[in-house]
Amino acid sequence: MTRILRLFAALWLGLAGLATAQETGLSALARLEPGRSSVTTSGQATEVALGLTQAVPFRAFLLDAPPRLVVDFREVDFSAGRAGALADKGLIGTVRWGRFRPGWSRLVADLSGPARIDTAVEETGEAPRVVLRLSPVAAEDFAARAGAPSSALWDLPQPAATEPPHRRQDGSAPLKVVIDPGHGGIDPGAEADNLKEAVLTLTFARALKEAMTRAGMQVIMTREEDVFVPLETRITVARAAGADLFLSLHADALPEGDATGATVYLLDDKASDEASQKLAERHDRADLLAGVDLDGHDDAVAGVLMDLARTETQPRALRASQVIAGAIKSAHLRMHKHPVQTADFSVLKSPDIPSLLIELGFLSSEADRQRLLDPTWQAQMAQAITRGVATWAQADAAEARLLRQ
Ligand SMILES: [Zn+2]
Repeated sequence: MTRILRLFAALWLGLAGLATAQETGLSALARLEPGRSSVTTSGQATEVALGLTQAVPFRAFLLDAPPRLVVDFREVDFSAGRAGALADKGLIGTVRWGRFRPGWSRLVADLSGPARIDTAVEETGEAPRVVLRLSPVAAEDFAARAGAPSSALWDLPQPAATEPPHRRQDGSAPLKVVIDPGHGGIDPGAEADNLKEAVLTLTFARALKEAMTRAGMQVIMTREEDVFVPLETRITVARAAGADLFLSLHADALPEGDATGATVYLLDDKASDEASQKLAERHDRADLLAGVDLDGHDDAVAGVLMDLARTETQPRALRASQVIAGAIKSAHLRMHKHPVQTADFSVLKSPDIPSLLIELGFLSSEADRQRLLDPTWQAQMAQAITRGVATWAQADAAEARLLRQ
């Protein structure tokens, strides 16, 4: 017999117990069964059914601007299915899924219009399924309902807005570098030729960490595996670590044609060119696509105090970008024709930590793809960036000591 769990009444209580089970290893990974998964319509309503190999805790909620349905699971391996097979039916638009954070998976569906969740149930027993029924509502009804529910079990850490400004490095302690492998999990980043940006950036980040550690630097990574990390959390990791430098690693695809080589990006609300602007917009959109509720995020990265801190930090970041680009060039590694550029990347908005985004190359370029996959190139690039960072840090520390006198 099929036992039906009512989501909104029972799940929150159930979660606490199941979370404990998960920690003791009792709950294994469930897999999506594409053959028992479907999106169907009846009248105005749309039903989303997801067949699973076993029942797992889940929650469903709606987000606004744009309207999205988010379903979190603890934990589902979606790899057997194809998100496109469930897309564009009834209220459901584009569908994407993947790991959201360790132990948690997420499905995000764009909605074709404002909707409400009528029922969200999990059928357990022989053939477990999560079944959601949606129906259209007026826009103002939707706005009132939308928003991520808050629960300590599911929620992401809040940005630490109240931390004191970080003391500038002066060479008296090992340089603390936060390496941020771009994308991950539900947000694979650019994809070309069966390669995912999220995987390439993580591979390179490991090589860079090794080179920097050997050079005596202290390295903290924003992610160590293929998992989604929201932009805001990446900044929080850097601030919590008291980082001296933040390096975000990417390898995007540029549709505009034949961009090749590495580029170092600095934060600026005016982008160097249209391609840079599009790049920054696409990265901000990754949070939306992954179902992050962006309400209030602007407050965390804005404000007069932050602008003040940035006027001090930005010249330091500019020098870092030039020295690192110089080091890559003198190692005879391929640079973009404009090696240092600016764009409005959210991930670079730490007010008191010099922050750079390095496009290691472009996935859209065949030659760059070859380089990105080549362990020798990876080691040389990691060495060059490490040398550049060390050179910058020395000069930056000397300036800090001079300013203190
Ligand atoms: Zn990227």
